[in-house]
Amino acid sequence: MIVTVEEESKQLETALGGRYRKVRMGGAVVYVFSQPVPKPMIDRIHNATVVDISKPYQLASRDFLKETSIVRIGKAEFGGRAIQVCAGPCAVEGKEQLLESAQAVKEAGATVLRGGAFKPRTSPYAFQGLGEEGLKILREVSDAVGIPVVTEATSPDQVPLVEEYADAIQIGARNMQNFELLKAAGRSGKPVVLKRGGGATLEEWLLAAEYIILEGNWEVVLCERGIRGFDPSTRNVLDLAGMSLVKRLTHLPVIADPSHATGRRDLIVPTARAAVAAGADGLMIEVHPRPDEALSDGAQSLDIPTFGEAMAEVSKIARAVGRE
Ligand code: PEP
Ligand code: MN
Repeated sequence: MIVTVEEESKQLETALGGRYRKVRMGGAVVYVFSQPVPKPMIDRIHNATVVDISKPYQLASRDFLKETSIVRIGKAEFGGRAIQVCAGPCAVEGKEQLLESAQAVKEAGATVLRGGAFKPRTSPYAFQGLGEEGLKILREVSDAVGIPVVTEATSPDQVPLVEEYADAIQIGARNMQNFELLKAAGRSGKPVVLKRGGGATLEEWLLAAEYIILEGNWEVVLCERGIRGFDPSTRNVLDLAGMSLVKRLTHLPVIADPSHATGRRDLIVPTARAAVAAGADGLMIEVHPRPDEALSDGAQSLDIPTFGEAMAEVSKIARAVGRE
């Protein structure tokens, strides 16, 4: 149950003896209860809006906010009519590589630059990213090209650093249930792109978003990036049914990542088209000026000309489904 009031109610807080979580939403104060509150108690509070929510996640639920929330990363508005595309290399490898990528993806119509500085790699022998040096390059290139940037934080103690350099914080699939990281991102002042864990249910994903919101950060974009399947022909399985369903369950904007979902650059265009047709608010696509030389995820990265073609294809689908 959620009770929204214009001002904090000490009366309610005393009566409930701490059995609530409290979070600010714009000028209002939102009390969240995991148990229904007796009606007479609510009736005593002035101007309270009460929403009964039968789901384990509440603030993230569309039962609470009926309209899709707009989340801004720089000037890009996720959750509006326009499809937002985050594009760039899997990892920042150096200034030239990022600059070339950023100019090209912006030119092709991407609205957010992506690039990892802290890379969560399956193998400890794989390229781990440039760390803070990578963050500095991201900031510099983002400012030079005029495109906001999202990059991943892989541990709670990296959040203040990532927050300082980036316009949005990515939480990766492997960290979707790193609760201390979720809380740290929730306390930050930057929007969060929350990827779905490879083995996470929709409910677990939305509860992860709930952790972020409970700390006072409502700026969460969900990213479907494929879940584990049995067939190694594709890296993961892009769960478009789950993505469409999660859009009904939550007011948060949802984007899809065809690169990590498929692991193959030849499948990016068809899955990107399908995701937009199925209602995605945006896409995340890996782009590298020379994918075959990429230090990570080259096989699922588009080169610059192919990314331009992909954007044209996506734009046709967007218009066909009443988006832009
Ligand atoms: C990435 O975006 O490069 C990444 C590591 O993604 P995911 O967490 O979805 O695997
Ligand atoms: Mn990657």
